[in-house]
Amino acid sequence: MRIDIITCLPRLLDSPFSDSILMRAQNKGLVEVHVHDLRQFSEDKHKKIDDYAFGGGAGMVMMIEPIANCIRSLQAERSYDDVIYMSPDGQQFTQHLANELSLKKNLIILCGHYKGVDERVREHFITREISIGDYVLSGGELAAAVVADAVIRLLPGVLGDETSALTDSFQDGLVAPPVYTRPAEFEGMKAPDILLSGHEKKVEEWRFQQSVERTKKRRPNLLDE
Ligand code: SAH
Repeated sequence: MRIDIITCLPRLLDSPFSDSILMRAQNKGLVEVHVHDLRQFSEDKHKKIDDYAFGGGAGMVMMIEPIANCIRSLQAERSYDDVIYMSPDGQQFTQHLANELSLKKNLIILCGHYKGVDERVREHFITREISIGDYVLSGGELAAAVVADAVIRLLPGVLGDETSALTDSFQDGLVAPPVYTRPAEFEGMKAPDILLSGHEKKVEEWRFQQSVERTKKRRPNLLDE
């Protein structure tokens, strides 16, 4: 898989991809993440990428030209399954959508800033808009990193334990059961005996039961779905 992220603040995307699971996924050749600095696609001599909003009002708007140049230069190299714009009014990002995107080959993710992008970008270049929640961030970079992280960890071979992603919350419509590790007892607080019993089948049953109970208590909406 290849993910191209377009941003006017490329440094914001340095660290999310240079550590731990996401870095190893790239080193193993399971994913390529390319971050593109929008300013380099501006034809303006001051490398301008935003301007005042037509009709007035507070806040700058990201111009269509540098974005069009950047998207077109990428599309000239390969075809993309989706050109995604991160936007608070987009489709709500969920594990289901992460699963769907993890099956794609090439994705572009455009990060907005200021008041967002000129509407004509959304009408003519964007194939999908994603929101990571009903709140407004100052830019799309952290949102793009959230989407890329959730998608990349699903790619085969990325997580060390192959089954690990399958037992995470939401994969089977349930939240994850509680987990424990050493010591078995800390200041009188004990880990459940069943987990130390060695009965694989009973442990599995207990985990499933815990998942169902937790889902009922914390996220009953998942059971309705
Ligand atoms: N004026 C816009 C918000 C712009 S915020 C509005 O009211 O809808 C600046 C940029 O941050 C957006 O263009 C988008 O790329 C990103 N962003 C902000 N909140 C986001 C969210 N919840 N999900 C995804 N991207 C978001």
